[in-house]
Amino acid sequence: MGSCAAYAASSRGARALLLEQFDLLHHRGSSHGESRTIRATYPQAHYPPMVRLSRRLWEEAQADAGYRVLTPTPHLDLGPRDDPEFRAAIGNGGAAVVAGGGAEPSSWPWAGVFRVPEGWAAASSELGGVMKATKAVAMFQALAVKKGAVVRDRMEVIDIARRGEGSILVRTASGEEFHGAKCIVTVGAWTSKLVKSVVGMDLPVQPVHTLICHWKVKPGHKGELTTEAGFPTFASYGDPYIYSTPSMEFPGLIKIAKHGGPPCDPDSRDWSTGAADLAEPVARWIDTVMPGHVDTAGGPVIRQSCMYSMTPDEDYVVDFLGGEFGKDVIVGAGFSGHGFKNGPAVGRILAEMAMDGESRSAVEAGVDLEPLRIDRFVDNPKGNLKNPGDQGRQ
Ligand SMILES: Cc1cc2nc3c(=O)[nH]c(=O)nc-3n(C[C@H](O)[C@H](O)[C@H](O)COP(=O)(O)OP(=O)(O)OC[C@H]3O[C@@H](n4cnc5c(N)ncnc54)[C@H](O)[C@@H]3O)c2cc1C
Repeated sequence: MGSCAAYAASSRGARALLLEQFDLLHHRGSSHGESRTIRATYPQAHYPPMVRLSRRLWEEAQADAGYRVLTPTPHLDLGPRDDPEFRAAIGNGGAAVVAGGGAEPSSWPWAGVFRVPEGWAAASSELGGVMKATKAVAMFQALAVKKGAVVRDRMEVIDIARRGEGSILVRTASGEEFHGAKCIVTVGAWTSKLVKSVVGMDLPVQPVHTLICHWKVKPGHKGELTTEAGFPTFASYGDPYIYSTPSMEFPGLIKIAKHGGPPCDPDSRDWSTGAADLAEPVARWIDTVMPGHVDTAGGPVIRQSCMYSMTPDEDYVVDFLGGEFGKDVIVGAGFSGHGFKNGPAVGRILAEMAMDGESRSAVEAGVDLEPLRIDRFVDNPKGNLKNPGDQGRQ
């Protein structure tokens, strides 16, 4: 998000400085790895307009860079027909039911791959795709530099303070100090720690350990599950919530993983946790829904640890920090395992909030920022969740 914001701000002529605590493109946060998915099917109606804005901005950034990081694919959602989140997601995303809904065509492209469980449906939508994650972050950093931004890594920010009207001071662990008119804070899983130490506020952003799993495609089916064959990104509602990208980065393997994981401390992680809780439910799901095509014997062939930064309602935080900082410090955080696709839109919105005090792009694209405000937690610790039993969902 920080790299996207730096690109957006420097594209508008701002003198932007991007500070990163570790090495650039490190593996200790949330944005590394081979792939992320984009889709417009969301249970919450406020995300599809943001996804459509982002989709356009992905194209613009790629045109600016001269290479591609996003491979478009169709997107498929599967889920219990009576699951309200599944129904809302396909409704909000304009997906067409292709199996299990009663009115579907007699055959659909992936009928031979998915065994849709009794009582479930599958719905297809056009806006899907795979972003090359690390390559995309590198692209936004390179574009930001091209537009005049300065990027410094191994710079841990330890304090943000006001120094008079219109001046924000940022101090790093190495003792350097930087002054600017505005400061955008996009520190992922470190958000609650930094915000607490700067303003004493408890922002409910919980770091979570999660696992990316790649599974072996069964012999004879390697070509079928690829982006070249038009295979979709997909999500499966219910418990567990499963997501997948087509076979692409590792030929012969397909990424299928479970959303979520156990809470963790980003500064003392146990990289090995979760094999049982995070891989076994996926294996059981594969054996039920894709038994003919994906091999679960022996578990996933490749695993990679990653972190989510979860809010209680799984909605992002995109807001001014307020208090003594007023509109001069802006926070983009709590992307809850579904932020990558919206990086370009969030970066643009954060930059406009910093430079103009409001986001014109959000207004023009019909993106409602109200559900992403910090004050939603003031009267309700669960934010946008109305009922105690409600759960968020990516
Ligand atoms: C396994 C996995 C799969 C996912 N799949 C999808 C998907 O398919 N689609 C999708 O849209 N999203 C997906 N996501 C979510 C998405 O990747 C994240 O929402 C997004 O990358 C979050 O970006 P961020 O900038 O908030 O965090 P990060 O990328 O972690 O960036 C925060 C940066 O701030 C730095 N930092 C922290 N503290 C300081 C400090 N004090 N000083 C300086 N620097 C600091 C960190 O080192 C880090 O580099 C997935 C996430 C994971 C983990």
